[in-house]
Amino acid sequence: MFTSVRTTQNALRNKKISVRDVVSHFLTKINEKNKDLNVFLTLNEDESYELAKKYDGLLKENPDQIFEKYPLLGCIVSFKDLFLTKGLRTTAGSKVLDSFIPPYSAKVVDKIKKAGAIIIGKTNCDAWAHGASGENSDFGPTLNPWNKAYVPGGSSSGSAVSVAAGFNHVSFGTDTGGSIRQPANFCGIYGLKPTYGSVSRYGVIAMASSLDTVGHFGNNISDIENVFKISSGVDLCDATLKDEDKKQKDNITVGIPKQYFEKGVDQVVSDKVHEAIKIFEKNNYKFKEVNLPNTKHAISVYYIIQPAEVCSNLGRYDGIRFGNPRNSFGAEAKRRIILGNFVLSSGYYDAYYKKATQVRTLIINELDKAFDEVDLLIAPVSPSQPFKLGEKVNDPLKMYLSDVLTVPANIAGIPGLSVPFGIHNGLSLGFQLMGPRFSEKLIFKMARDFESFTNYKFEPPKF
Ligand code: GLN
Repeated sequence: MFTSVRTTQNALRNKKISVRDVVSHFLTKINEKNKDLNVFLTLNEDESYELAKKYDGLLKENPDQIFEKYPLLGCIVSFKDLFLTKGLRTTAGSKVLDSFIPPYSAKVVDKIKKAGAIIIGKTNCDAWAHGASGENSDFGPTLNPWNKAYVPGGSSSGSAVSVAAGFNHVSFGTDTGGSIRQPANFCGIYGLKPTYGSVSRYGVIAMASSLDTVGHFGNNISDIENVFKISSGVDLCDATLKDEDKKQKDNITVGIPKQYFEKGVDQVVSDKVHEAIKIFEKNNYKFKEVNLPNTKHAISVYYIIQPAEVCSNLGRYDGIRFGNPRNSFGAEAKRRIILGNFVLSSGYYDAYYKKATQVRTLIINELDKAFDEVDLLIAPVSPSQPFKLGEKVNDPLKMYLSDVLTVPANIAGIPGLSVPFGIHNGLSLGFQLMGPRFSEKLIFKMARDFESFTNYKFEPPKF
């Protein structure tokens, strides 16, 4: 009844449960178990119950009409603590903003609320979204519900775990270099990084503005599709947005980019992607190897452009206008501020920042060319399964390398979806689908097909 938005909405329509029951189901679980996993930084209990009362009242009248007006009625969501929520504390996972109460909400927060969703709370994340493990949060790491000795991935760690642990239906995160796809992969759920320019970033604390995207976590593809449909679309407050839909197709040819399977990628990870490919092939999907030799430069490009933009964006937290003084920044934010200033400073700008933007164009062109030959790409999400807490925390380079297979999509602004597929040694595995800009529908089709080929049903971890 509570596992997907659809099952919850059906139960509401049939009057088996009330919206209050839905809210109380999730809040009871959170209040009992949140301390074990450190998922929520702030809860929104009062408003959740107030809205439940409102919707239960409305449902007494004409349920069909009410569901038409509020397509997400009964859907319980959380937001990574990077999304401004009016009147509700928003920290970005950093002590700099530990008592910041935003005066307005992000556009996507308003949109989702208007569609009837109830926001149950704000989730833990690496401070300022810098990280791949959740360990950079100033509020302590979130733990992986499949095995608490392991990281859940990052930086949207709390959001991924909130869905995997059954604390809500759907969660919103941001993906600048992999922060939705990688934690989704580490937690055994779906995670969508949409096309750059398809979901408004207005009111979302900026990390690296030319790479940041807003996306979603869910335990089934239809929840992801629904929430994406409602959150995407033109918004006058974010000038990068446009409405575009790539044509749907029936016969999809999928590229296997050979550079995504090369050294550094664990055997068990690449074997699992090939197992998925075989299942697709049995069901008439066509595959073709593609060559993307510039992929190897993506991580270097990312770790130049991203800190350059981070240091500009973090300049506003000067301790004068809002937030705590600059000495409240953690080590990782300081590292990126220094790196960013270095690559932008005179004498180094041409060699680093300018060069990185040139190579970025090569990566974009190479991917565009590949999409002349194939409709979508299939690849691993992360080179390894989840790693142990503490394993990479003192080695930033090693940590940065966990993004090697996710950053190309951000550099090129293309969409990517993490699809869960199986468990090995008690930890999750999966693959990612990528496509040309605005090809989300095609990606959803392929993921939906996979759900039906494998009779996929989300099996929650016991924690
Ligand atoms: N792990 C990457 C980083 O540390 C990605 C972060 C993100 O996507 N927000 O920069």
